[in-house]
Amino acid sequence: MSKEVAELSFVNPDYLNTKNSLDKIGPGMCLAKWTQVTIHLQMGQTHSCHHPSTHHIPTTELKRNPSALHNTKHKKLRRKEMLEGKRPSECEYCWNVEDASEQFSDRVFKSNESWSKPYYEEIANLGWREDYNPKYVEVAFSNVCNFKCSYCGPSFSSKWVEESKKHGAYPTTERFNDLGPLIKEGKMPIHHKEHNPYVEAFWKWWPDLYRDLHTFRITGGEPLLSKDTWKILDYIIEEPNPNKNLNLAINSNLGIPDDLVDKFIEKIQRIEDEGRVNEFIIFTSVDGWGKQAEYIRHGLEFNRFWDNMNKILTKCPRVNVTIMSTFNALSVPSYYSLVNGVYQLKKDYTSTDRYWTSAVFLDTSYLRYPRHQTIQVLPKYWAEDIFHVAQYVDYLGIPKFDNRLVGYSDVEIQKIKRSYDWMKAFIPEQQLKKQRYNFGKYFKAHDERRNTDFCKTFPELGDFYKECLEIEL
Ligand code: SF4
Repeated sequence: MSKEVAELSFVNPDYLNTKNSLDKIGPGMCLAKWTQVTIHLQMGQTHSCHHPSTHHIPTTELKRNPSALHNTKHKKLRRKEMLEGKRPSECEYCWNVEDASEQFSDRVFKSNESWSKPYYEEIANLGWREDYNPKYVEVAFSNVCNFKCSYCGPSFSSKWVEESKKHGAYPTTERFNDLGPLIKEGKMPIHHKEHNPYVEAFWKWWPDLYRDLHTFRITGGEPLLSKDTWKILDYIIEEPNPNKNLNLAINSNLGIPDDLVDKFIEKIQRIEDEGRVNEFIIFTSVDGWGKQAEYIRHGLEFNRFWDNMNKILTKCPRVNVTIMSTFNALSVPSYYSLVNGVYQLKKDYTSTDRYWTSAVFLDTSYLRYPRHQTIQVLPKYWAEDIFHVAQYVDYLGIPKFDNRLVGYSDVEIQKIKRSYDWMKAFIPEQQLKKQRYNFGKYFKAHDERRNTDFCKTFPELGDFYKECLEIEL
């Protein structure tokens, strides 16, 4: 960072100090390469952080050391580069940010987190060959899932594997969800009923890992359909000396059978009542309202999903729910209703007894892939609708000048505004034409394979869809 920028008053001094400390070791130094990991046990892949592509975990390394789920030779060599003043090419996400502007990259933000910063000295004095227990861990045990959301794929959904095996790739120019490349790259998920050496290694490592964890998040697939998720909950419940600093987060589509929802609630209550974690957050997903939301996330029964959220928030008075909303072209017509629905939940359940006062957080992130389903494919006049939703969320924001706690936070508002800005970005005409062509091809095949009806479900988008079907490349 240039001297001029360092001197500007709006530079957060905390970030600047962290950047200076990192740069003392080298311009590529980043604590997240040690402290954070996402492990896809269903595919035997790992990465630190989540920006670089995943890489394969050799089972030979696991035999000697189960922490090779994180401390692979590949990753150790990247750490060596960082400690020797180089910038690993796999971290180009950060180098692009740093080279294109004077802004801080995630290298600084992640190294400044409470799960990284306190470990600076320890890591700086560690040799690159040493194993290191991460503090922020995300794990998927399997891809078993009862949903096959329109933008998802076989790596994360067993239902998608079944469909792709039966029907092959979708007839888009990119051959959406073709199994061929996954097979070729050795990334086909291991079936959840087969022996999985990565899961076996995880359980060998877990007792040691658990002690050091700051945050542990289980993703999937649908984690509540995986026996390993239940094993984690039972471990935490039965542990005589629990890690009370742990922030536990579990993803769920909340579309699982009722008995599993009830069992989940019981486990959360035990953990909450006995103060076995620092906080417990459930991450769930919905991208629109009613039938339109059901079309986007195939397998979702909207009313049951909403009832389950209410049930959990009623019966678990401390827990928080984050709704990860993948804002895509099909979200736009009903997003206003979703914003209203979430606001009602906030009104009903916000309480200072919860780990975080606001019971529910709407985390809107616009979809980037597959490109044919992004908001950018829509005719530009739809941007007006997104603008109105953003204005409305702003109106429902937490009041700045009184003590009421209910409402949308700045982050929730900004993320919807960001979607509006992104929608308006310029796309070359040929690219847009291809994306719209693929939109038509994809949803036509979707209706044929899944017995759905696009025009009936999205009458607002019917004319646009028909125009897409007419496009020839
Ligand atoms: S340098 Fe950037 S991409 Fe690499 S691990 Fe750190 S935050 Fe992630």
